[in-house]
Order: sequence, then C-alpha cells, then structure tokens
Amino acid sequence: MNYHIITYGCQMNKNDSKRIAYLFEESGIYESSEEKSDFLIINACSVRERVVDRIRGKINQLSEEKTLILTGCVLDEDQKKLGDEFDHIMDIKNLHEWHKEIDELKELTKKKNYFEIKAKREKPIAYIPIMTGCDNFCSYCAVPYVRGREKSRPADEIVEEVERLVKKGFKEIWLLGQNVNSYNKGKKPDFADLLRSVSSVEGDFWIRFTSSHPKDFSGKIIKAIKSSEKITDYLNLPVQSGDNDILQAMNRPYKIEDYKDIVSNIRSEIPEITLTTDIIVGFPGEDERAFENTKKLLQDIKFDMAYIARYSPRPQTEAAKIEDTVSNREKKRRAKELTQILKKTAKNKNKKKIGDTVTFLPTEYKNNLLIGKTKCYKTIKVESERDFSGEFKKAKITQATDFGLKGNLI
Ligand code: SAM
Ligand code: SF4
Repeated sequence: MNYHIITYGCQMNKNDSKRIAYLFEESGIYESSEEKSDFLIINACSVRERVVDRIRGKINQLSEEKTLILTGCVLDEDQKKLGDEFDHIMDIKNLHEWHKEIDELKELTKKKNYFEIKAKREKPIAYIPIMTGCDNFCSYCAVPYVRGREKSRPADEIVEEVERLVKKGFKEIWLLGQNVNSYNKGKKPDFADLLRSVSSVEGDFWIRFTSSHPKDFSGKIIKAIKSSEKITDYLNLPVQSGDNDILQAMNRPYKIEDYKDIVSNIRSEIPEITLTTDIIVGFPGEDERAFENTKKLLQDIKFDMAYIARYSPRPQTEAAKIEDTVSNREKKRRAKELTQILKKTAKNKNKKKIGDTVTFLPTEYKNNLLIGKTKCYKTIKVESERDFSGEFKKAKITQATDFGLKGNLI
C-alpha cells in the first residue's frame, strides 16, 4: 500500500507532514505519487479562507478508489464544509491516536503523545517542534482554536534529538513553535536557555528558529543568539501592522515604539542580522491613515523580507465578529504597495553584500547552479560544475537581486 501527502501551510504543517509520513512508513505503507497512492492525506491550514476552495479543487480531480484523509489546522467550520468529501478527518494534535480510526496504522499504539512521533527526515535540514499550540489569541487567528493551548517539550528530549540528528549528518536544525519565545512559559529552562543548550551540542551545524512574538522577545535571547556561531543571524519577528490602534484591535500587546526598540537592540548587538516579518493588510478598521503607518514602518525598518497576507475573517475568532471593512481589491492594492517598498529596501540591503564571502548550504542543484540559503538566510545561487547539495560551501557575492544573491564558489 502507498500514501501521498499534500501540504498547505507553514513550516509547522510541513513538519507535521513528515511526522504523518513516519507513521505510515512504520506501518509498512510507503510514499508514492499522488496517482498511485491508496491513502491521500491533505494536511491543510485554515489560517486563510482560500484553503477550502483549494482542497475542493484538488479532490475533484481525484479517483474514487483512494482513502481520503483531511488533517492539519482546520477549523470546525471548514471541516463541516468538507466533511462529506473525506473518509477520515483526523486531529493533528492527536497524531498518536490515529490508529484508533485508521486500522493500517497499528504501530502507533506504542506512542504516548504528539512529541513521541518521529519525523521522516531528509538531509540536510531537520525541523524539530519544541512546543505546540498557542495561548495568544490574536483576534484574527485560527491557530489557538485548531492547535489548542501551548505545550512545551522537555529540553533534554530536544537536545537529545539534536545530538542524534547532528551525528547522522544533518546540517541545519530548526526549532519550531507558534511562539518559541514563550517556551516553557518563561520558566527555567526558558527559550534563551534552550538555545544555549542546543548550541552546545558538538558538531558542524546551524540552528534556526521560528516564530517569535515581539511581546516575549527578550535581551536574553539576543545574548543567546550572539553567544554561539551555530545560531544563525536570522530572525522572523512578525509585526502584523505598523499602527498602534490596529495592533490593539488585533490583540497584539505591544506598541510600534516597543517593536522599534527591539529591532534597534538587535541591530546594535548583531548588525548583520537578517530581519523578516509578517504583515496583514486590510484588517477591519485599517483606514488610509493606519495603512500609511504600516508603509512608514517598512520604510523605516527596511526588512529583508515580509510575508504579506490579505486579512481573511476566520470563523470562531474575535475579529470575525466585526465587519470586514476593506474590500478585497483594496487589500490587493495595499499588499502590492508594501511589496514595492519591500523590494527596494531588500535589494538595497542585498547590494551591500556584494564582495562579501559567505557560507551557504546548497539544497538543490539545477542547470549547473547550486541553490540554497546563506547563514543569514538569504537565497543564493552559485554556479558549480559539481553537485555539493547538503555540504557547507563558501561563495563570494557578485550580484544582488530583489530577494536573493548570486555568487561564485570559492
Ligand atoms: N505565531 C506567529 C505569529 O505570532 O506571528 C505566526 C503564525 S500564523 C499561522 C502565520 C501568519 O499568518 C501570521 O503571522 C499572520 O500574518 C497570518 N495570518 C494569521 N491569521 C490570518 C488571517 N485571518 N488573515 C490573514 N492572515 C493571517
Ligand atoms: Fe496566531 Fe497570534 Fe498565536 Fe501567532 S501568536 S499563532 S498569530 S494567535
């Protein structure tokens, strides 16, 4: 028997898919193409509304013989819309209990909780969840409803897993959580302590982490990043809006002044840091004045990258109770305007890297080009006659693009 997984969503969803893959393979069911699969699993995310249409579009093209499974961060309301079309709707939080409904997953009986399920790994990058769930209830967000409350994984288990992966030759380890900064709810060991423990593991590897919430981002974390060569100079710090009134309506408990202070502290300690953010345009009540504040923030901070989303009301959330005041057309226009600003600031920052020597980790080799990320998480393309995927290499930067770099192998 064979399975195939289709993933819609963020890094956490992608990591969950690797865990689902592990479950099936432990039970002697192996990965295949979508057409040949007996089990077709759709691991989706309800964070944006469009996912229901995407899933419908997908399953309409499928043959009837397959067992269709829906899982992921899918809100009850979206599950109801799709329920009739799937054989099983499975809770991702209870991955360790899937065998109760799907007979073929018999090996699962031995697992006690989500964290005990390993992931199917593909070198050189490994993703490790250090916590699941979220307690923040940002007013627009479905995550707390679909993933439940925050649960942190014991630090010694995380460190052991990192040791094991590094020994096997993994070169880049991601520590994952919806808000990694509140790991263990700030109790000992907190996130900064965990970063130090993971970075004390011997071996040649990098550490990255995501996502960070500005409200829990401390000076202690900055010092931990600075303390180790293994922790890369890359930070995704979602701001969501540049306007204090909108931040308050979003239930994001910080002001733009606080956010700017964090950024200036980071940059004064780690000037080379690559800083990215998440932004939502068209949140209810975002008028021209509020949007101008977001534009100004992008111009001031000069992010290396921003993941810009158009607000989409999600059932169950607080924001869904208020009117969605900004038209879709206007949301599109605002997103486009922010992208234009971002392209300029990102390219200017990339240009400053021309002439630098950087270490990068290629993960792809195509048309004589090595493609990967630099230590600072910039996309890089380097000409090479050999495939060095999975090995750290050095390159001299020769060219800057809007969101990436080109260089020569040295
Ligand atoms: N935990 C992270 C944080 O606090 O920023 C992010 C997790 S969330 C799943 C990923 C991104 O999706 C958010 O940063 C936000 O920009 C976007 N997002 C979440 N809900 C949204 C909604 N209802 N409409 C549009 N974008 C949304
Ligand atoms: Fe959603 Fe906010 Fe939690 Fe991030 S911190 S997952 S945006 S509720």
